[in-house]
Amino acid sequence: MADCIFCKIVNGEIPSNKVYEDDNVLAFKDLNPQMPVHILVIPKKHIESIIDLKEEDEKLVGKVFTAINKIANDIGVDKEGFRVISNCGQDAGQTVKHLHFHVLAGKKMSEKIV
Ligand code: 5GP
Ligand code: ZN
Repeated sequence: MADCIFCKIVNGEIPSNKVYEDDNVLAFKDLNPQMPVHILVIPKKHIESIIDLKEEDEKLVGKVFTAINKIANDIGVDKEGFRVISNCGQDAGQTVKHLHFHVLAGKKMSEKIV
């Protein structure tokens, strides 16, 4: 999608600190980290958010979570743990309209909403 920052990261127009890539999924460090480890994991396909997922995207979402599993093992947070967040829409404060999963780790998270 032409005006999408994350599509530009996927096609290399905007540089990023990549931590993982395969045919369908890309992961890179968040520009403005909120935790010692703050990685964004995205499908390369442009989908706005969870609410825009179609049945045909089921496998792709599975691939995103398989990638998260690999990344967590690779960077060594599999034992200590991590949190995965996807902001969807206005009330959740979604700023980039390309489906993404924040992977947060590296210190004990004291605030727990759910
Ligand atoms: P949201 O608020 O939509 O859930 O999260 C968007 C995230 O994307 C934010 O944490 C923000 O720091 C990150 N972000 C925005 N623009 C860029 C960028 O150009 N590069 C990287 N690496 N992260 C970005
Ligand atoms: Zn996009």
